[in-house]
Amino acid sequence: MQYLETVLDDVIQRSPNEPEFHQSVREVLLALEPVIERHPEYQELGILERLVEPERQLIFRIPWVDDTGRTRVNRGFRVQFNSSLGPYKGGLRFHPSVNLGIIKFLGFEQIFKNALTGLPIGGGKGGSDFNPEGRSDGEIMRFCQSFMTELFRHISPESDVPAGDIGVGQREIGYMFGQYKRIKNTYEGAITGKGLSYGGSLVRKEATGYGLVYFVNEMLRSQGETFADKRVVISGSGNVALYAAQKVQELGGIVIAFSDSSSYLYDDRGLDCTLVRSIKEDRRQRISAYRDDHPDVQCETNHRDIWSIPCDIALPCATENELDDVAARKLVDNGVLAVGEGANMPCTPRAIDVLQKSGVLFAPAKAANAGGVAVSALEMSQNSQITIPWSFERVDTKLKDIMNNIYAKCAATAQEYDQEGNLAAGANIAGFLAVAEAMKAQGII
Ligand code: NDP
Repeated sequence: MQYLETVLDDVIQRSPNEPEFHQSVREVLLALEPVIERHPEYQELGILERLVEPERQLIFRIPWVDDTGRTRVNRGFRVQFNSSLGPYKGGLRFHPSVNLGIIKFLGFEQIFKNALTGLPIGGGKGGSDFNPEGRSDGEIMRFCQSFMTELFRHISPESDVPAGDIGVGQREIGYMFGQYKRIKNTYEGAITGKGLSYGGSLVRKEATGYGLVYFVNEMLRSQGETFADKRVVISGSGNVALYAAQKVQELGGIVIAFSDSSSYLYDDRGLDCTLVRSIKEDRRQRISAYRDDHPDVQCETNHRDIWSIPCDIALPCATENELDDVAARKLVDNGVLAVGEGANMPCTPRAIDVLQKSGVLFAPAKAANAGGVAVSALEMSQNSQITIPWSFERVDTKLKDIMNNIYAKCAATAQEYDQEGNLAAGANIAGFLAVAEAMKAQGII
C-alpha cells in the first residue's frame, strides 16, 4: 500500500542510521494494510505518522568515577514513545551496543506489547552504552547513581516508570531506586523490578520467562501438544532465559542448551538449570564455568551456532536479530515444532518468513514476552496503595491469565483479519487497534 510505504520512507529519511528501529516499524506497518483498508479514518487522523514519532526523546551525559579514580563518561537515553494508554513504561538497558536507534526500536515495540496486556501503560524505553561487564559493585553503584541524577527529573509513578532489561537487574534497580528516593525525598514506585523488602512484587523476577512459557504452552495446546518430554533450546542465560527454563522444566520439558555472549552449553540428557542460575545470577560467571562440575558437557565457543542443535522447541532469549534465516532453516531441517521469542525482535524478518512458511508454530515477542511488563504493572498497582504484598500464587495466577488472554486476543484478531494462525499479525493488529482508538479519542496531540 502506497500510504504505508510513504510512512516508512519518511521514518527512514528522518531517522537515518537506525536500522533496528526501521526494522521494527516496517514489521508493524506491513501487518497493518488490512487495518487501514477497514479504517480509513486512521489515515485521515495521521495516527501512523504520530505513532512512529516519539513524544519525547532524552539524551544525557553520565559522568562517573571508576575504581582507579579515572573519570568516565557514558551516554544515557530515555525515549518516551507513546502515552495514549497510560504512563510510559519500559525497561532500561545497559550494554555497549546501546544507541538511540536501539532504544527507539525497543520503545516502539513496547507500545504494542503494553497495549496487549490490557493494562493502563504507555510505551517507553531507555538505557546507556555503559558496559557493566567486569565492573566492581562500587562502580556499578556510582554509575547507577549518576544515571538517576539526571533521569529522576523525567520520571514519576504518574508519568514514566522504568524497569530492567539487559544489564539491569535487581542490583541496578536497587541503586537507582535509592538515588531517586534520596533526591526526591519521596518513597514512591517510580521504578519497577525492586527487591521484595522495598516495594517489589513477587514473581517480577520470573515474570518474562514464565509468561513466555505460558504463551507458548497455549500455542502448543491449540495443536494438541504440550511441553512434556520436549527438548528445548534456550539462548541467553539471563533473567528471561533462566526463568523460562525453570517453567519449561515444571511443565515436563527438557532444557538441553543455554548460551551467553561467549559460548553455549549442550547436553542432550538435559542441563542442571539450578546450577546455571547459580553461576549466572549469584556468581556472575561465564556459562562455561558449568564444566567445572560437569566436564563431560559440550561447551562451544560460537554461541550463535546454538540453533544447529536438534530440538522440538527453540526459545531465543538473548538479544535482537540473534536468529537469522540460516539458523531458522537449520531448526526447520531438524524438525522444530515451535519457536517462542523471549528476547525483543530476536528473529530476523527472513527467519520469521522461513519458520512461518515451514508451518512452525511462531510466538512473536510483542505478545510472548509481555509477562515482565504485565507484572511490573501489578507492582505499580501494589505500590499505589498501602497493602499487604500479593502472594506468589496470586501474582502468578494473574500473570497466567494475562498471557492466556494475550494469546486468545492475538489468535482471534488474526482470524478476524483472515490470517488464521498468524500470531505475529494478530499481535501487531490487536496492539495497534488498542492504541489507535485511544489516540483517536484524545484528539490531535
Ligand atoms: P540479561 O542481561 O539478564 O541477560 C541477557 C543474556 O543474553 C545474557 O546471557 C547475555 O550474555 C546474553 N546476551 C546479551 N547480549 C548479547 C549479544 N549481543 N549476543 C549474545 N548474547 C547476548 O537480560 P534479559 O534476560 O533481561 O533480557 C534478554 C532479552 O529479553 C532482551 O532482548 C530484552 O530486551 C528482552 N526482555 C526482557 C525483559 C525482562 O523483564 N528482563 C522483558 C521483555 C523482554 P552475557 O551473560 O554474556 O552478557
